[in-house]
Amino acid sequence: MRSPDCPQYQTSPERRRWSARGQQATSLTHDGQSAQSNSPLQEQGAAMDATSVSGRCLCGSIVFQHTGEPNWTLHCHCESCRRATSSPITTWISIPRGAFAFTKSAPRYFHSSPGVRRGFCENCGSPLTYENARIEGEIHIYAVSLLDANYASPSCHVFVSEQLPWFEALDDLPRFATTGRDGASPIRFGPEKKLD
Ligand SMILES: [Zn+2]
Ligand SMILES: [Zn+2]
Repeated sequence: MRSPDCPQYQTSPERRRWSARGQQATSLTHDGQSAQSNSPLQEQGAAMDATSVSGRCLCGSIVFQHTGEPNWTLHCHCESCRRATSSPITTWISIPRGAFAFTKSAPRYFHSSPGVRRGFCENCGSPLTYENARIEGEIHIYAVSLLDANYASPSCHVFVSEQLPWFEALDDLPRFATTGRDGASPIRFGPEKKLD
């Protein structure tokens, strides 16, 4: 089954408590934040803030910030996410909409399907946000856009039914065929083929 515009996001996944950096999240997750600075050290410092996390696009024109705990963080293998990023996997962080703000400039939006808009930097092209009218209380950002991507703590993989055959991840996180919502059970934990 194809996943037009990542139906993972058409309803809210189960909320689980966000775990601290470096610890294992307990379930479905997404997260992000903001801030931009001129030096790697400044960026590192901003991202280490316990209550505020920042991220930016490649060129630095757009900076965003998030406070508080994300709803969830997860890896998505669906085709729409792959298309949107031209990458084999996308790591998403869901943030309460009210806890998110652009602190420098603002993105342009591509309306990828009814009720869905994807924000990106019109200068450098970096994808930045995903918003769906069905879950208007959330905004999803890319974990790797954070100033310190180590902050993110993914809790599962979704849409592994669409996973590319030449891509695998070695973590032992649960894998869901499509979404992890509505009591779905993982089809396995860890990669399909254990590598020696
Ligand atoms: Zn997806
Ligand atoms: Zn940019």
